[in-house]
Amino acid sequence: MADQHAQLDWNEQGQPSSRLYDDVYFSRENGLEETRYVFLSNNDLPQRFAALQAGEQLVIGETGFGTGMNFLCAWELFDQRASAGARLHFVSVEKHPLTEPDLRRALALWPSLQPYSEQLLDAYRCLNPGFQRLVFGDGRVVLTLLIGDALAMLPQLDARIDAWFLDGFAPSKNPEMWTPELFAQLARLSAPGATLGTFTATGYVRRALIEAGFAMKRVPGLGKKWEVMRGTFGGAASTLHKPWFARPGYLPDRRRALVIGAGLAGCATAASLARRGWEVTVLERHGAAAQEASGNPQGVLYLKLSAHGTALSRLIVDGFGYTRRLLERLHKGQDWDDCGVLQLAFDEREAQRQAKLTAAFPTSLLTMLDRQQAEAQAGIALASGGLFYPDAGWVHPPALCAQLLDHPGITLHYHGEALALQRVEGKWQALSGARTLAEAEVTVLCGAADITRFEQSAHLPLKRIRGQISRLPASSSSAALSTVVCAEGYVAPVRQGEHTLGASFNFDSDDLTPSSAEHASNLDLLREISSDLAERLQADDLDPATLQGRAAFRCTSPDYLPVIGPLADAEQFAQAYAVLARDARQVPPVPCPWQQGLYINSGHGSRGLITAPLSGELIAAWLEGEPLPVPGDVAEGCHPNRFMLRQLIRKG
Ligand code: SAM
Repeated sequence: MADQHAQLDWNEQGQPSSRLYDDVYFSRENGLEETRYVFLSNNDLPQRFAALQAGEQLVIGETGFGTGMNFLCAWELFDQRASAGARLHFVSVEKHPLTEPDLRRALALWPSLQPYSEQLLDAYRCLNPGFQRLVFGDGRVVLTLLIGDALAMLPQLDARIDAWFLDGFAPSKNPEMWTPELFAQLARLSAPGATLGTFTATGYVRRALIEAGFAMKRVPGLGKKWEVMRGTFGGAASTLHKPWFARPGYLPDRRRALVIGAGLAGCATAASLARRGWEVTVLERHGAAAQEASGNPQGVLYLKLSAHGTALSRLIVDGFGYTRRLLERLHKGQDWDDCGVLQLAFDEREAQRQAKLTAAFPTSLLTMLDRQQAEAQAGIALASGGLFYPDAGWVHPPALCAQLLDHPGITLHYHGEALALQRVEGKWQALSGARTLAEAEVTVLCGAADITRFEQSAHLPLKRIRGQISRLPASSSSAALSTVVCAEGYVAPVRQGEHTLGASFNFDSDDLTPSSAEHASNLDLLREISSDLAERLQADDLDPATLQGRAAFRCTSPDYLPVIGPLADAEQFAQAYAVLARDARQVPPVPCPWQQGLYINSGHGSRGLITAPLSGELIAAWLEGEPLPVPGDVAEGCHPNRFMLRQLIRKG
């Protein structure tokens, strides 16, 4: 896919304008002043930020992120006015993101914003098409960038916007964006009484916004602009969901959560909740976090994408960006490395699949390398070229878990295995026999397939797949391997004197003792990846019986999407929506029988490094009524209720 980045021209004063739209990003004379007036004052943000209490949030929506100047000004004002514990969500859609060097150059024009622009620039990476979430100031400010056309992205957004910044080049320069379809989306997403500020006073825009439900007012402009507009949404809030995907709307007075399981999903859930001021207890049966599937020495950021934009593929792109931004805080070379991942085109079918992916995704995410280029990238001889993901690499998952758990709001409770759950007086209790191990108003089940042991979640169709990795001692010549290389299996560059080679798939075994048969089959995977590397590692001389490694269970669902969200009572659900068995199109106006305060985050398969960190944000968004960090249909694709729905419909 061609590069989607903005193409800029810079004038003599060093200010940017768009070559494509032939328009400026901000006023050349008084950019900051104009933003503060048109977007901040006209949305009454100084007063509204000051009125926010701890635990409350305000959600801003913007068309056209551009240089992020509006965002930075809003953030600065929020910092000045809002009390501790209040939060700002900023959702902005951008079709042509600036490159990092362009952004740096543009933001250098505003030295007063520097403390904020530095943080934006640090996080400004892996902004591939989709929903890209950036977190600042321990979660006080959250930016969700929707990378794509506003008309395609806003319909995917699940949020209630309190204030709109209607930016996006002049209507005369960009008529494709300023359409009734866009304004209908603004109305759909508006919270009751949402406000709007825009720099344009163009007649047709004003009339169309009124048509969409906004009461619009022309107000004097600044400098050369005669007039600008402000507005208030007077329409009713639209229904965003079918009842089984609606938000449960339960938020306890005291935000306390119990997270069961300290693998990646549990650690990510704990981190996202703690950042929002929750008191989180993590209950873990082992004596430390990351002891099961998240305990391998090296996991790979392996993106298995589809050219057809499936929910899973979009979740992977969004999750990858989020994980990558998190990893920047870890020790490179020791805890992770962005050495890239090369997926070999090992047969004709895979080569064709890769060609389609090259056409569907931007070159910043993946590029096709021929054999020679691939060998140069990998530092070893290969049988074919393949797809190269330059921003991917490997991660030591326990280090990521430790980083996620490192928050004063999180208490760790080790050596505690919950065997049953019960709700007593508005709290979930985790029980081991007669003993209550821990309790909290909200509980999130993050224990992979073991969560089916609880009566409350026994209906979920989660499966375990055993996987085994082998740890191969590096040789002087294997150290040349400079990127992760994957075919059916994967091998990673050296970390602490070893390469991780993996991973087997075994649906039948329940035994977690590493087996020499699977070490031997891992060595076969290595030979398929590169006979040169196999030689460098003297694979033929290695005795599988003496190899070191570890085995764990991946947890997957029948449709391979993870299971993230609130849990309903299975029996009551079947009764409430029984009519779907007769007519799948019916939407009975019956509220979903939620199990109050009970959530699940599981089923991340072998791609937990990519999907689990973002899943914590999704759980937190469900609980707090925040904008979802993924498209609405992706969240529904991950919803625990999907299985019961399908079962009902299949009965018909
Ligand atoms: N708010 C920006 C700032 O603070 O720098 C300035 C926005 S600039 C005037 C307009 C932005 O809208 C550009 O970055 C442009 O790429 C984006 N844009 C234009 N049409 C769009 C569309 N249809 N969908 C999404 N973004 C669009």
